[in-house]
Amino acid sequence: MNSLRNQNTIRESVSVTGFGYWSGLDVTVEFFPAPANYGIRFVRCDLPGQPDLPARIVHRSHSPRRTTICRDGVSVEMIEHIMAALYGLQIDNCKIVVNQSEMPCFDGSSQAFVNALVEAGTQPLDQPRSQLVVNETLRIGDDEHCWIQIEPCDHLKISYHLNYSNQPQIGKQEFEIAIHPDTFVNELGDARTFLLKHEADWLLQQGLGQRVSYQNVLVYGEDGPIDNQLRYSNECVRHKILDVVGDFALSGYEVCGHITASRTGHRLNGELTRRLLKHGQIIDQHAPQFISSLKSA
Ligand SMILES: [Zn+2]
Repeated sequence: MNSLRNQNTIRESVSVTGFGYWSGLDVTVEFFPAPANYGIRFVRCDLPGQPDLPARIVHRSHSPRRTTICRDGVSVEMIEHIMAALYGLQIDNCKIVVNQSEMPCFDGSSQAFVNALVEAGTQPLDQPRSQLVVNETLRIGDDEHCWIQIEPCDHLKISYHLNYSNQPQIGKQEFEIAIHPDTFVNELGDARTFLLKHEADWLLQQGLGQRVSYQNVLVYGEDGPIDNQLRYSNECVRHKILDVVGDFALSGYEVCGHITASRTGHRLNGELTRRLLKHGQIIDQHAPQFISSLKSA
């Protein structure tokens, strides 16, 4: 077991403005410093009473291709790239004031959020950050294609297997990375969302993504990304890992374990997060005392 690091917040407030993929609506996201044990909470300043929504798995609600939290009919959608940026930078406490339901897409990665949060700076707080650890392997999904597991490890490490056999430009991609601020900023934060041309066409036909251009998402045609250059040859699998980071951030803890995933999306990521909270062990500042009192009993 690692010793617990201190919790962090941001040093000063910072904001970003963009538009949502699905709704096309303009949205401003303001990040504010918050005290220890506040966690990450979204505040909808556009609604009466400015309701707040803790970014926790209990409030996760199902919506296709994105991560949404909802409480008492109030929702915040597409939070995964924000959550990944906060988790990746070890910002544990932050109040996020937003004026729309759907979070901005920017270039399809966490980069705009990372830039803003780095600019705000990190402020250590005088409380330890609790960890969520696994003592046995937990696995869900099917046996062959689509599954995710977490096994014991003293830090968060993620391995991902992607296989788009019908789209040779993506093909098979595998990547493994230990998650900490340096690796997140340098190897994951700017990896962008991708989809196939026929999926993009279908979404447009449904009236979705009307403001989205090839600069907001990697759209794969027969010859690779349309009107865009890859940032990494394996950018797709890196983005899938970024999504895993954002989804597990909803646990509310620093996760210690080795996650291996094969072709999962937000739904299975969320389900394993729930299971981890049920079967994992929480290490906080009280845990060592608890263990020593057991020994002396
Ligand atoms: Zn994503």
